[in-house]
Amino acid sequence: MDEIKLKNKIQVGLTQLRKSRNVTQDKLAEMVGSNRVFIAKIESGVSNPSYDFVDKIAKALEAEVEINFKQSSSQESFAAKMQDNRKEYICVGCSHKWMSAIERNVVQCPSCRKLQGISYADYLDAWNSCEAIILKMKASPLPPIRSIKSEFPTIFKLISKSAGGTFPNPKLPLNIAMKILEQVRQKHERGGGDGGKE
Ligand SMILES: [Zn+2]
Repeated sequence: MDEIKLKNKIQVGLTQLRKSRNVTQDKLAEMVGSNRVFIAKIESGVSNPSYDFVDKIAKALEAEVEINFKQSSSQESFAAKMQDNRKEYICVGCSHKWMSAIERNVVQCPSCRKLQGISYADYLDAWNSCEAIILKMKASPLPPIRSIKSEFPTIFKLISKSAGGTFPNPKLPLNIAMKILEQVRQKHERGGGDGGKE
């Protein structure tokens, strides 16, 4: 039942009940401590009374309000609708994490608004890829793999089971992989590491 139908039910129901009790709008207003204009507005659908007020009116007229929740779709179709097909995303810039059903390689981060959100699974693959780059390049100023392990324990916790992956990861855009790698480099330069936090 939509809002209009429910409102209409209150209007019609209240008006009929009041008339069947031979109570004027003035009298009803007096009984519930309101004014005639407000009662008239409810009966004409102009005002949207609170549940408590409707209940108060009903009690004054010695009636009961009955509300039914009628299911408008089958249990199966409802369950299908509720099935969660979202997956976890993470922003490679601000590290914000969220759930989304969007199926794209790179999505906008709802926190920093930049186009640098990737699926968390891809993010893990990215670290895997980064490690592969580092191994491949063996290059400074990138930190040696051993120091990444000690400085970035979280990263290594994340990829502990997938060391030595392939690069480039076909699912991961190269610019995102490079961005993550750059973060590792910058953090290494500052000597901060990730402190073991996520
Ligand atoms: Zn962000």
